[in-house]
Amino acid sequence: MLRPVADFTDRICLVLFLSRVKMPHAYPFLSPEQKKELSDIAQRIVAPGKGILAADESTGSVAKRFQSINAENTEENRRLYRQLLFTAEDRVVPCIGGVILFHETMYQKTDDGKVFPQYLKERGMVVGIKVDKGVVPLAGTNGETTTQGLDGLYERCAQYKKDGADFAKWRCVLKITPTTPSRLAIIENANVLARYASICQMHGIVPIVEPEILPDGDHDLKRCQYVTEKVLAAVYKALSDHHVYLEGTLLKPNMVTPGHSCSHKYSNQEIAMATVTALRRTVPPAVPGITFLSGGQSEEEATVNLNAMNQCPLHRPWALTFSYGRALQASALKAWGGKKENGKACQDEFVKRALANSQACQGKYVSSGDSAAGGESLFVANHAY
Ligand code: 13P
Repeated sequence: MLRPVADFTDRICLVLFLSRVKMPHAYPFLSPEQKKELSDIAQRIVAPGKGILAADESTGSVAKRFQSINAENTEENRRLYRQLLFTAEDRVVPCIGGVILFHETMYQKTDDGKVFPQYLKERGMVVGIKVDKGVVPLAGTNGETTTQGLDGLYERCAQYKKDGADFAKWRCVLKITPTTPSRLAIIENANVLARYASICQMHGIVPIVEPEILPDGDHDLKRCQYVTEKVLAAVYKALSDHHVYLEGTLLKPNMVTPGHSCSHKYSNQEIAMATVTALRRTVPPAVPGITFLSGGQSEEEATVNLNAMNQCPLHRPWALTFSYGRALQASALKAWGGKKENGKACQDEFVKRALANSQACQGKYVSSGDSAAGGESLFVANHAY
């Protein structure tokens, strides 16, 4: 006697359910011309042999870097140092597709009075801008964070585009511990990255999507791979939910590495295989390029790992290249030491790393074995940018 009633109720519920669940519909927000502009920008940045110079350290991060070489953290010193990198000899031109700037640098000038974005464009480099405003705590989690900076981003992007920026960066941070990353941190950071990406694209700016999983901890390679896959899967779900045009984006992930205090050592080939496997499982082939952060690896390690990925026997539908901060600048900064007379030495070191990474992103790097300075760890605990 009870069955028909239950069947009837079930059917009513099903009809009600189906009438409410409609396939989401994307109202087109980018014209074919806008899409072409975005995908052209992304392709130019990751053209064969090219990667990104991340020179967007916040004033606070520069303070720490300058402190290590006893240089004063003044606006003029920051301009002088960045000018050295941007004006390095022409051999860097085929290596550097894009440069990420911090807000202040966007409006600084070369000694000849040309604003940096204009100068970089004339050298054929695409100009990028860091638009996030740093990490803030996520309440109720074990020290996890989200990234702020969405307020006013729509207007800021419009202005940056006018001022010469064609791509942007937004960094989110996730941590590996026995209890993290939490589901909340994964979902929240994926969503904020997607929201940022959609705002950028409305202004003709290619978003670099950066969900950095920190290397802090003693976890092994497998755990980092597992977490990287879960984080990237959530990021691409959120990008899809926000109708982000993937061909006009770049991904900036961590490489899959063991935790900084893991006692087991893995080969560069193992790291390359774990990283490419995680990426193949989660990053759609529509994404034109993956530009790794160096994340505290030594300069040489970051180059050798990138090279190993580009030699890995698995099929890779995207360009795999670099977007290094520390791994492009550590030796250069040291050689400069805040002294005018060391300008040339600073540039020589930068050129060396740019050339090495340009080779590595084509799988053609042959290590000279000379890793005196280049082999030094650049790890910073709980790294902020
Ligand atoms: P590192 O290469 O020093 O990790 O920095 C790259 C970057 O831009 C992090 O946001």
